Amino acid sequence: MIDKGSDHSKGSLGRQARPSSPHWIRVLGLILAAMGFAAASGWAAPPPAPDNAGLGSFSKLIWAYLEELCSMGPRNPGSPGYAKMVGRILHIGREQADEVLQYPFTVHGSQGEPVTLADIEFRFAGTEGGQPILIGAHYDTRPFADEEKQEDRRNTPIIGANDGGSGTALLLGLAHYLKDHRFKRPVHLVFFDGEDYGLLHSGQMLLGSAHYASLAAGWEGDQRPRAVIVVDMVADRDLEIFKENYSLESAPWLVDLLHAAAKKGGFSQFKDNSKYSLYDDHYPFFRSGIPAVVLIDFDYPYWHTQEDTLDKCSPESLFAVFSVLVEALKDI
Ligand SMILES: [Zn+2]
Repeated sequence: MIDKGSDHSKGSLGRQARPSSPHWIRVLGLILAAMGFAAASGWAAPPPAPDNAGLGSFSKLIWAYLEELCSMGPRNPGSPGYAKMVGRILHIGREQADEVLQYPFTVHGSQGEPVTLADIEFRFAGTEGGQPILIGAHYDTRPFADEEKQEDRRNTPIIGANDGGSGTALLLGLAHYLKDHRFKRPVHLVFFDGEDYGLLHSGQMLLGSAHYASLAAGWEGDQRPRAVIVVDMVADRDLEIFKENYSLESAPWLVDLLHAAAKKGGFSQFKDNSKYSLYDDHYPFFRSGIPAVVLIDFDYPYWHTQEDTLDKCSPESLFAVFSVLVEALKDI
């Protein structure tokens, strides 16, 4: 992903804690139960469910997926970690999704040799049908660390816990959720390949999303995506998601809807002001006339370095974005 410039405005660092579960009610219930009161009194009844009740287990699942992805090592195309990850994604897709599709395409490697990349799509039918919503993330990690300060560390592939790992883990968690929770429209989860393949300004970036968008541009009727939501770099411990400028140009209604969902859930990681114009996987869709937005925290000092590792990420950040997506999908 390429930064097209920013206003460098900085929002509040304040984060809202979620309310802790009222253990005392359960403890009181147990005491009363032991005294023979519980059945009649109703004291042990659970407290009213908050809006995001039941989503908590997905936080653990998404984090476990991120840990697993990082344990595979760098996952750039052609690497052993990449092969392992592709096998794992396909396996999870076959277990959770209604349908799994692959969109292979060929690019030229650094020596001009042909390299096959592939987008992977999990499809989940909707209760009412219509045009699908695409939720996309790139699953490849960067084959080098061009933002490294230390020159001798620049030619080594990165782990990409946040850049590559976070969006992939989030989509895998969503796959489990969507298996049992359907929305009106179909939801398609798309794992884009080759987002981080080449050097900046080499034209070898956003390869998978550009390939997919070129296909989707020719699709009509209910085949054509209603909108695309890209998630990238969403696990930063200090997560701050500003409104991105191309997203505001492409689909202001969808940006508003996502931020309204964040407000409703109390996720203060989502900021009201705009920041950055980014060439990320939403951009080829925007250029193809398909409404597209990106959710990203680009203020990440470890971007494209060897330091983009699990310890810079948090389950709470991933959970915030997961919850916002699930809430927003109800209204699209
Ligand atoms: Zn990147």
